Amino acid sequence: VKTDMIEMLEEVADRFSFQLKQKSISMRIIREAGVGTASIDRDQIDQVLDNLVSNAIKYMPDGGNIELSARLPEAGIVEIAVKDTGIGIPKKDLGRIFDRFYRVDKARSRNMGGTGLGLSIAREIVKAHGGTISLESEVNQGTKVSFTLPVAAEGSVTA
Ligand code: ATP
Ligand code: MG
Repeated sequence: VKTDMIEMLEEVADRFSFQLKQKSISMRIIREAGVGTASIDRDQIDQVLDNLVSNAIKYMPDGGNIELSARLPEAGIVEIAVKDTGIGIPKKDLGRIFDRFYRVDKARSRNMGGTGLGLSIAREIVKAHGGTISLESEVNQGTKVSFTLPVAAEGSVTA
């Protein structure tokens, strides 16, 4: 099904508006010219976005910023990113961050709840769509998770 990428991001922002307000976190949507629709399983990509945005909120002190962006890195591919100004992830953990049940430093994660499955599920869903997901992070600076999606579904015929 064709989904408008910007509408999709606006709806994520709406779903989290209460939690954002509670933590005084601002959210901005950045759209590169030309970003339109992509053929995706909307429920699954919403699950990816909800995982990433809930991480951004959970691992951020009050008063930070989140950017949701959509750009076209190359023809036929849209890249969505969730960038936060939160606590970040230590370099030594970056290699395992997409593993099932992996959580950084139990002490810091313990009182924040969670199972360590969010990112691994996100990666499975993005892979199933024919995309890739990657994460960049700097301790005490923030984290950016980006994933790509083919604009047209694999095997589909486009006009
Ligand atoms: P779940 O998503 O299953 O509720 P979780 O959030 O702990 O639990 P993941 O979403 O897979 O699991 O994230 C794995 C770990 O990566 C987290 O425990 C956290 O330490 C770290 N992490 C993920 N996203 C961020 C982020 N935006 N900022 C800082 N640390 C993060
Ligand atoms: Mg999570």
